[in-house]
Amino acid sequence: MSSRFLSPRYRDITPYFPGEQPKDRAYIKLNANETSCEPAPGVRRVLAGARMKALGRYTEPTAYELRHLAGEIHGVRPEEIVAGNGSDEILGWIFLTFFEHASVCYPDITYGYYESLAVGLGIEHHTVPLRADFTMDVDALCKETSHIVIANPNAPTGYLLPVSDIERIVAADPNRIVVVDEAYVDFHNPSCLPLIRTYDNLIVVQTMSKAYALAGAHIGFAYGCPELMRDLDCVRGVMNPYNISDITAAVGCAALEDQVYLESHVYDVELARDYTIGALRRMGFRVLESRTNFIFVEHPTLAGPDYVRALRAHAILARNYPSMRRAENFIRITIGTMEEMVAVVQATRDILAHRNGEMADERAVL
Ligand SMILES: *Cc1c(COP(=O)(O)O)cnc(C)c1O
Repeated sequence: MSSRFLSPRYRDITPYFPGEQPKDRAYIKLNANETSCEPAPGVRRVLAGARMKALGRYTEPTAYELRHLAGEIHGVRPEEIVAGNGSDEILGWIFLTFFEHASVCYPDITYGYYESLAVGLGIEHHTVPLRADFTMDVDALCKETSHIVIANPNAPTGYLLPVSDIERIVAADPNRIVVVDEAYVDFHNPSCLPLIRTYDNLIVVQTMSKAYALAGAHIGFAYGCPELMRDLDCVRGVMNPYNISDITAAVGCAALEDQVYLESHVYDVELARDYTIGALRRMGFRVLESRTNFIFVEHPTLAGPDYVRALRAHAILARNYPSMRRAENFIRITIGTMEEMVAVVQATRDILAHRNGEMADERAVL
């Protein structure tokens, strides 16, 4: 029950439901698109090293060094970047700063946090259905006059939209903002970052939680024209002026500096992903194309919720989306290490064999 002081705005709020982090036993954890690998070796040196003295002081509030480094890597100036405590925080400020007295739309099957933000902040919102094959309906998005948020590649489907299609959506109406959430861009996907110089109604959002293996440090970035970023930074300054801790900034810089490690981590994930896709397809699964560190899969006779439950009995966590119409039967499996994915394939083989045995028993009884 809530207290009697709760603001009326939040009466009907349901908090965003992230992938669970159970501690009751050891799990192979493939339910939150994190990584099972360690971050770059430089991160360990930062944490073991000489940051202690700095902790007595407030950090530099705009995370300049972190933004500067990210900018260097992407060919973007620091005034075109705002840093956040995760891209979730960045998304929250974008909604607050630009969407509060307007309306926003996003695909019906996408990252659930957009809906949480719109509902939680009382912002008018609606969804634009994906096409039957789960690809984005670019023509429908072009016609939208509301602000637009799209994840590219999309989650949990994994589909990538070409930059030319994004440009078409952005250019179709300069009077609404298009936010492109590029959480999985580092898995060898093209970015629409270069377009921020041409379009002052485009914001690109990126994170270090996935390919950089830093979900626990929680660092995200917004990229856009200086005017948009100034507005966003004002709201950041009001909501949480020291949003990036000194430790977080140092860890983020160390990871950004090691692009070779990033590349090798991404390569490992892609190798384990392509192995898993092949093995599941051979067992009869439909697996959507993936350009990310997760796969979205469906079996013709094994219901999604049952598959998640059965994997859990094998100490493997994955995720199902019972409230997403048309995708209820799919499950999303994050790609862990090769050993973990071998365990997933083995468990799946057991689950299917066990179930086929049960079905044969039922037939015998009839
Ligand atoms: C994981 C994810 C995020 C959240 O990233 P954080 O930086 O950890 O907050 C945002 N958007 C999409 C599409 C994601 O998959």
